[in-house]
Amino acid sequence: MAAHPAKSTKPRGRVRQALWDGVRLICPACRRGRIYESFFRKNYRCPECRVIFERGTEGDFLVTTVTAYSIVAVFTCIIAFILNFLFDGISLATQLIITGCIGLLFSILFYRNMKGLAIGGLHLVFGLYEDLRER
Ligand SMILES: [Zn+2]
Repeated sequence: MAAHPAKSTKPRGRVRQALWDGVRLICPACRRGRIYESFFRKNYRCPECRVIFERGTEGDFLVTTVTAYSIVAVFTCIIAFILNFLFDGISLATQLIITGCIGLLFSILFYRNMKGLAIGGLHLVFGLYEDLRER
């Protein structure tokens, strides 16, 4: 694996740093490469250190799915509580529609960051493997 230029020596700092790098869509292994090439296109491997971000055969996508689902569920519940307690005049059906739309928009806008968070978690728990194939 590539050298970690600004690696924190404290375990808690290392966890926070890897997860935060993932949220910012920066490779948690080298802290230089970008996880996403554009808004819609994810890099298969880090352009700097060549680690594979998500191995398709290892079920890494499940980590992303669970992470994104959990975050969106908590966010949607918070929105539902806010609507229910602060805006009494809104009917339940309208609240559900508003909550659903906001939750959907949130998941579309921040899916990349949630995926990055999951990649940061994968890096911490299992480590990201370097792609040994030719460039
Ligand atoms: Zn990297």
